[in-house]
Amino acid sequence: MNRPLPDVIADILSYHGAIVDKEDNSYFDVIVPPDVSDILNIPEYARLTFSNGETSDEAVYASYDSEFFVSIRNLFANRGKFTIAHYETYFPYMEKISRLLSENIAFGNATYRLEKNEIKDITYLLIYFKYTAVSDEKNEGILPVLINSMNLSVAPFENSINDIAERLKEVDFTQGHPKHVSLKILQSAYTACTGMIQARLKDFKKSLEKRLKRDIKRVYEYYETLKTESRTVIERKLTASEKQDNIELLTRKLDAIVAEQKWKIQDLISKYALSIKVEPVAILSIETNAPIFWINIKRRLASRLFPVTYNPIIKQMDSLPCESCFNPTEGYFICDDHLHIVCGKCLKTCPNCSKKYCMACHTKLCPKCKRNG
Ligand SMILES: [Zn+2]
Ligand SMILES: [Zn+2]
Ligand SMILES: [Zn+2]
Repeated sequence: MNRPLPDVIADILSYHGAIVDKEDNSYFDVIVPPDVSDILNIPEYARLTFSNGETSDEAVYASYDSEFFVSIRNLFANRGKFTIAHYETYFPYMEKISRLLSENIAFGNATYRLEKNEIKDITYLLIYFKYTAVSDEKNEGILPVLINSMNLSVAPFENSINDIAERLKEVDFTQGHPKHVSLKILQSAYTACTGMIQARLKDFKKSLEKRLKRDIKRVYEYYETLKTESRTVIERKLTASEKQDNIELLTRKLDAIVAEQKWKIQDLISKYALSIKVEPVAILSIETNAPIFWINIKRRLASRLFPVTYNPIIKQMDSLPCESCFNPTEGYFICDDHLHIVCGKCLKTCPNCSKKYCMACHTKLCPKCKRNG
């Protein structure tokens, strides 16, 4: 899933109002707005090059090891979208935390053994997602989630930032590098967040469905009455041996009613159709250290070493992630092929052929019947 750097840079610059003329992966030309030109310290019209050998006087070298690359982060820093902070930790004795391990970790089809523990530098991302759900009504909100970059455990962040602010120290963006941040982490947080939002919108959806049903019933009954009336008239005219032309006219009218009923109902369905938009609005990268418990998970003859963490920010064990939905429900299981940790929902039973399969291994189709569960 890693995109080439020139693509990413082109995206970031376009996002900040630049015109990008990109033909090639080794260089491209940009016209940037004056404020961006100042922040990046490049001319408003510039050629960016990504291969070190080909730098000329006019071209700006823009690869990972360039000054330009360092300055591109300032675009975000200035807008307050991405911040790095250090979190000063203290935690209970390891023995005390170890005891929590057995209370928190269990698999429906596998065993595990604690291999070793250690204290390690670790990064959590606190991501504020904004969601907007629109149908005939609108429902929006912010959902902050905390993701552990080491094992991708995600939890809604229920504390207030003020609860932890005292121990947070902002790291100068131009000095510090965001550690351990990858697309995979952002994707996992996003996946988890969409699941949590679905749960949050349960009542909203219920009331939406209720209104839709009510309106459909109303429209359906209205047109059914028209249809019955129209049919009665046609039958009456038929028994009265009315002219064929008149009867055809009435039949066409009935057809029109049937068609109108269909599209009025279709109309209602699209009026109440729900679209949900989710986007990150701010990311706080929290660098800290935490106790790591390496457990050896055993499933049949295979085993996998996995880091379970005590979360110093929320002061409890991080729950295990579900490596498919990242928002686990219904217990934990281990998949046979890759020893993924998946939740009860994501160790799915195919509704067509009843095969149980891991949704982290098979994201779309059932591996046996190749049908969509
Ligand atoms: Zn799951
Ligand atoms: Zn799997
Ligand atoms: Zn199947």
